[in-house]
Amino acid sequence: MRVFRRFATPVALIFVGAFLTQCGAPSPPAPTTTSTTTVPTTTTSTRTTSTRTTPPTTASTAKPTTRPTPTTPTPAAATVRPVTAAELGASWRPGCPVGPELLRRVSLDHVGFDGQTHRGELIVHQDLVADVIAVFEQLYRLRYPIEKMRTVEHYPDALDELSMEDNNTSAFNCRPLPSGRGWSLHAYGRAIDINPLINPYIDSRGNIEPKNAGPFLDRARTDPGMLHAGDPAVLAFTDRGWRWGGDWRTPKDYQHFERR
Ligand SMILES: [Zn+2]
Repeated sequence: MRVFRRFATPVALIFVGAFLTQCGAPSPPAPTTTSTTTVPTTTTSTRTTSTRTTPPTTASTAKPTTRPTPTTPTPAAATVRPVTAAELGASWRPGCPVGPELLRRVSLDHVGFDGQTHRGELIVHQDLVADVIAVFEQLYRLRYPIEKMRTVEHYPDALDELSMEDNNTSAFNCRPLPSGRGWSLHAYGRAIDINPLINPYIDSRGNIEPKNAGPFLDRARTDPGMLHAGDPAVLAFTDRGWRWGGDWRTPKDYQHFERR
């Protein structure tokens, strides 16, 4: 649920003449919970809906409305760089459905399980860069915690199982679907797995990935970082047209978001 805070209108006094409103001044940033300051290279600002009440048009003897100082932290700007086949290491090989030239390395701030700001990296398809920056900016503002976010070639043979067991959030990995039928959207840089240990994958036979995720099959748990239907963190993706594997009947893939 997105909550828009509505600020109390100051007591309006019937007092024609003293007209202390900001009507003629440029509007300051709307103090909603989702937008405070401008963040470069994102598309989220345009999505922000301002529900700020219109400044009072009746006069007030009070000072001009003092708005609460926004407390939502702003992430540092994301950076975007090209990647080479060498950098992709074991996560890419000739024959993969997209080449390195279509992929980008995006460095992003995220909130960690310690509540502190950390810098992580995702490799995604170039077409999704703006979307990914916007989503992660929103996750940051929501203070949705991500334990770690590093690219999968840091793990031996870029094995997804090892990345998942480590609760590592990642995107690109040239690998087939778990079913073996075709490429995963991760192989196109068009899918992201979020906190995969605590948001596991469960197939129709009850097999789980990663294999150490058993305690997190109980989706009534509310550990920080667990994703549930309707969570603001889920909506950060799905409101932008991404699909969430937690909405699928089978397999259930709570960690998985994809954009075709
Ligand atoms: Zn996935």
